[in-house]
Amino acid sequence: MPIEQPYPGLGELMEMIGAAGRRVCEIEASEGAAGNISVYMGWPIEPRRTFPKVRSMDLPQLVPELAGGSFLVTGSGRRLREIMDDPAANLAFVTVGDGGRTAQVYTSPRCLFERLTSEFNSHLAVHYDQIVRTQTVFHTIVHAQPLHLTYLSHIARYQDETYLNRHLLRWQPEMIINLPEGIGYIPFRIPGSPQLMADTVDGLRRHRLVLWAKHGVMARSDASAKRAVDRIEYAEAGARYECLNLANQEQAEGLSAEEIRAICQNFGVQQSVY
Ligand SMILES: [Zn+2]
Repeated sequence: MPIEQPYPGLGELMEMIGAAGRRVCEIEASEGAAGNISVYMGWPIEPRRTFPKVRSMDLPQLVPELAGGSFLVTGSGRRLREIMDDPAANLAFVTVGDGGRTAQVYTSPRCLFERLTSEFNSHLAVHYDQIVRTQTVFHTIVHAQPLHLTYLSHIARYQDETYLNRHLLRWQPEMIINLPEGIGYIPFRIPGSPQLMADTVDGLRRHRLVLWAKHGVMARSDASAKRAVDRIEYAEAGARYECLNLANQEQAEGLSAEEIRAICQNFGVQQSVY
């Protein structure tokens, strides 16, 4: 469900990112400084009481429709589990300038990083694509590295989107309800590369979550960062069951296609996997 007015304030937004970051860590999907989060706000917010230091940056792509909008973005090298302790030190506030070519980057005096996350190009490209298409005023993106999903992406037969989805979404009735378009599969691309960015934009048009082969996942939500993390958690739970089953001579069959179709019919879910 998209958010409605009155929109959340800066403190509430930073808390939401902290809580999402903590959950990503609880499910062991962000070892070290892996993972990153960004949130777009399409309404005016004054950041300078929290983020008084300001500098300009060139944006990685032209985003004219986003002029005046802002992002909260995790800093490069920061740990998702530590955002909660001091959100302002771990996040930057980025306001898109007129024309959408440059931005003002606001940071805290306690700022613990030099640059924005190295995946900001993919984040910005997906935000831009979704915002222009859906006119949403709020959009969140989470990148994480869940162990079982990432492991399966190293195995050849799971590198096929149909095979991947039919095997991972069969383990719990909630999975098809929460991921009705399934998980998008993206072959291995160099982290931070233009290819990864372009494929991610394309994949997240058709899915709410994509698996980056041999790396991790990216999820989007126009409701909250925690909702994006929920999707990661459902997909990772499916991958965990799948790994259990692989280790147990594949003795379980999971829900059948007929059972999953019946669930969808009962809950009015339009799905494209089974
Ligand atoms: Zn990563």
